[in-house]
Amino acid sequence: MLFIPLGATDTIGASCHYLNVDGTGILLDAGVDPDSEGLASLPRLEILDENPGWTVDHVVITHAHHDHLGSLPVLIKRYPRLCVHMTGATRELAEILLPASARLQRRKQQEGTSAHAPLFDEEEVRVVDFIYSTYELNQPFDLTGGSGDTEISGTFFNSGHILGSVGVEIVAKRKAKPVRIFYSSDTNLRHQSIIPGGEYPAPGLDVLIMESTMGADDDATTTTRASEEEKLGKAIQRVISRGGAVLIPAFALGRAQEVVALIDRYKSAGLVPDDVPVYTTGSMRAIAGLYDRTRLTTPRIDPEFEVFGVQQKRHPRSTEGTRASVRKPSIHIAASGMMFQNTLSNRLAQYMLSNENNGIFFVGFAREDSPGGALLEAAENGKKVVLNKERGPQKIKCEIGQFRLSGHSHRDDLLELAESLDPLKTILVHGELEAREWLAGRIREGTSDQQVLLPTVGQPIHF
Ligand SMILES: [Zn+2]
Ligand SMILES: [Zn+2]
Repeated sequence: MLFIPLGATDTIGASCHYLNVDGTGILLDAGVDPDSEGLASLPRLEILDENPGWTVDHVVITHAHHDHLGSLPVLIKRYPRLCVHMTGATRELAEILLPASARLQRRKQQEGTSAHAPLFDEEEVRVVDFIYSTYELNQPFDLTGGSGDTEISGTFFNSGHILGSVGVEIVAKRKAKPVRIFYSSDTNLRHQSIIPGGEYPAPGLDVLIMESTMGADDDATTTTRASEEEKLGKAIQRVISRGGAVLIPAFALGRAQEVVALIDRYKSAGLVPDDVPVYTTGSMRAIAGLYDRTRLTTPRIDPEFEVFGVQQKRHPRSTEGTRASVRKPSIHIAASGMMFQNTLSNRLAQYMLSNENNGIFFVGFAREDSPGGALLEAAENGKKVVLNKERGPQKIKCEIGQFRLSGHSHRDDLLELAESLDPLKTILVHGELEAREWLAGRIREGTSDQQVLLPTVGQPIHF
């Protein structure tokens, strides 16, 4: 057996990992790096050309975040006989998100904001989506490959991260003893506001491939989700009562809907006046509609809750309208969560920084090298921040805060997961090196016989 990461080992980049199980080639996820464009944003698929035995039969898509899904159309063009597996909700999300990604790539090229040719067009995405096979949670499906000589099955487990998200257990039914591999993907052991905590296979795995996003967050142990929710509620109340506007940068898929659910609670509890407008954007609204349509058929904490049961306004399209909207008490939920350049959250932050009444509150992970990460760091050290390279450094006068309401497990929960699943080997991916090293150190301390590996992109692991 063989494992080769093709992206997203020490960053949150293009998640895509190659697994060869007795001759069957399985790709785990097909992401793009959200911070690059064109060919540079793709996983390193060319590594698989080095060995003719490294065939590709299947791809399993764990969830519809761009860093796990965004290169799927490229994979399908490259491997025309590829079998594609996901949950029904992920498929519906893909049908919204991949055409939107194609349109965005074309627009950027036409406007001249990107020098890269689009990786795929809308037509190509629509033509291929009928080949996606979908499965219920906890129901084994076949993953045996054309050239494989062992029967292989996959089983999806709710990963507690976003709508439709799963971890996947892969079992190779070898005669002597079955081999069990579990890929956690992005996972959350605890309940959020809408999506309930993750579920996992039985202990005694052979290999665990686990994410490490929050591994470097050392404050997580001293906070709870409830206390963070309360702190955010009070912070929003503070800003609104002094006449300011609140910006919550959030991924359009997942975080945005969870934040809307939280604001609903703050309004019901009287923390935030009912008439304070809540602004959301087009893609968030399309996704919210899907959250609502699938509330009875996918894991929920409260199947009665509807995202569109909470009053929301659409973000104004014009620059003037956007500027005017942040001049009065209001709450703005805007992508991207890491405030990448040329996104709405980045533009809103540029308008809002100079007013001390305003507040910008992060509720998820912001990569160190992202504008969001730079803003958090600059605010902590009393420095100026560059959100937009053309605009240059800006003074930070407004309130900046970060709240631990991520869709990812904090590091103690990840440790608990690695210990309770009791694998012979744990492979850590999807986290900065510091995060992976902390987790690796603690897993090695806690268990004497578990081997922990931190591969780099392209580094094969045989087992
Ligand atoms: Zn994710
Ligand atoms: Zn991810």
